[in-house]
Amino acid sequence: MSKRDYYEILGVSRNATPEEIKKAYRQKALKFHPDKNPGDPSAEANFKEAAEAYEVLSNADKKARYDQFGHAGMGNNFGGGGYGGGMSMDDIFSQFGDIFGGFGGFGSGFGGRSAGTRRVNKGSNLRIKVKLTLEEILNGVEKKVKVSKYVPCKSCNGSGAKDGSSHHTCSTCNGMGRVTRVTNTFLGQMQTTQTCPTCGGEGKTITEKCTVCYGNGIVKEDEVISINIPAGVAEGMQLSLNGKGNAAARGGVPGDLIVLVEEVPHEKLIRDGSNLLYDHYINFSQAVLGDTIEVPTLEGKARIKIEPGTQGGKVLRLKGKGLPSVNAYGRGDLLVNINVWTPQSVSREEREILEKLATSENFKPNPKKGDKSFFERMKDVFN
Ligand SMILES: [Zn+2]
Ligand SMILES: [Zn+2]
Repeated sequence: MSKRDYYEILGVSRNATPEEIKKAYRQKALKFHPDKNPGDPSAEANFKEAAEAYEVLSNADKKARYDQFGHAGMGNNFGGGGYGGGMSMDDIFSQFGDIFGGFGGFGSGFGGRSAGTRRVNKGSNLRIKVKLTLEEILNGVEKKVKVSKYVPCKSCNGSGAKDGSSHHTCSTCNGMGRVTRVTNTFLGQMQTTQTCPTCGGEGKTITEKCTVCYGNGIVKEDEVISINIPAGVAEGMQLSLNGKGNAAARGGVPGDLIVLVEEVPHEKLIRDGSNLLYDHYINFSQAVLGDTIEVPTLEGKARIKIEPGTQGGKVLRLKGKGLPSVNAYGRGDLLVNINVWTPQSVSREEREILEKLATSENFKPNPKKGDKSFFERMKDVFN
C-alpha cells in the first residue's frame, strides 16, 4: 500500500477534474507499463502505485474519503479500501477497459492483456443510513442492520444454470470473454479486442436457466449485517464495507455496502468537531460568591467549581471530556460557557436592594480587574 500522496503520484492538483485525473493516469500507465519496461522492478512499482492512486481518485466515494482522512481513511479498520496488499496486476489490467477504451485496442493490444481479462460481473453497491447518538460515537459501536439485498441463488449456487450440464464454456471466445479482430487502417494493421458478443464477456453460456432466479444467479433476501462503527465518526461520513453489497449476477464479485453516518442531536450538548459545547446559566449570587455546579457530559454528570467573581462569558474547559476523532489519538474537550442570568423582573424589595448596590464602588464594571478579556477567552477556546 502506497503511502505517497495520491495526487502527487499522478502529478495532478487536488482540484483536478475526473478527466484530468484519467489523463494523468493514462500517461503514467503508458510510461511505466511492464511491456515497455521489461525486468525493471522500479517501473513496476511505479505502475502499481499509479494504479492504486487512480483506483481511489477515480471513485467518488473513495476520493471523498481520501480527501477527508488521507491514507487513514483507506485502511481496513475503516471498513473500506482493502488495499492491504496493494492491487494485483489483474486488478490493474481490468481497470484498463475504462482507461484505454477509446483508443480502439491501442495498437498492439498494449492497452490490456489479451488473456485473463474475462469480464467479471460486479454487484451493485448498497447504501444505508445509520443513526448514531453522541454516546455511541464516543466509544464506537456495533450496529446490526437489516437490509434487503441480492444474494447468490442457493438453488444453482449462483451460476444461473439449471444444472451443471447446462452451463457451457462459450464457444465464440473459448471462455476468454473477449474476441480479437484485426482491421486495416491507413496506419497499418490494428488489432482490437472486444467483449465477446455471445456471452457478454462472461466466458460462459447457459442453455437452460435456473427456475428460481431465472438465470440471474441472484435472489433478493433480507440479511442482518453487523457494522463496526469506529469511534469519532461524524454526520455525513461514509464507511465502505468491501464485498458486503449486492451479490453479482452469475458468480461475480459482490458490491460494497456504503454506510452513511447520521448524527442524532444530543439533548444538551452541541458537537463542534471533537469538542463538545455546553451553555450554562448561573445566578448573580453564584457569580459573585462562587459555587460548585453540575454539568452533563457523555459519561454522566461532572462537577465544576465557579470561582467567586466569575464574569458572564467565561469558558470553563473540561479536558478530554469531548469526542475522539477518527484518525487521531486523544479526545477533545467539553467547553462550558458560563452565562450570568439577569432577572427579568424584580420585587419592590429587590429593586430597593439593587438600587442601593448600584452606587457601591464594587459594582462598577472594571474589566481590567476582572477576568480575562474577551479576546483572551476566545484565544483559549480556539487554541
Ligand atoms: Zn438460481
Ligand atoms: Zn464468449
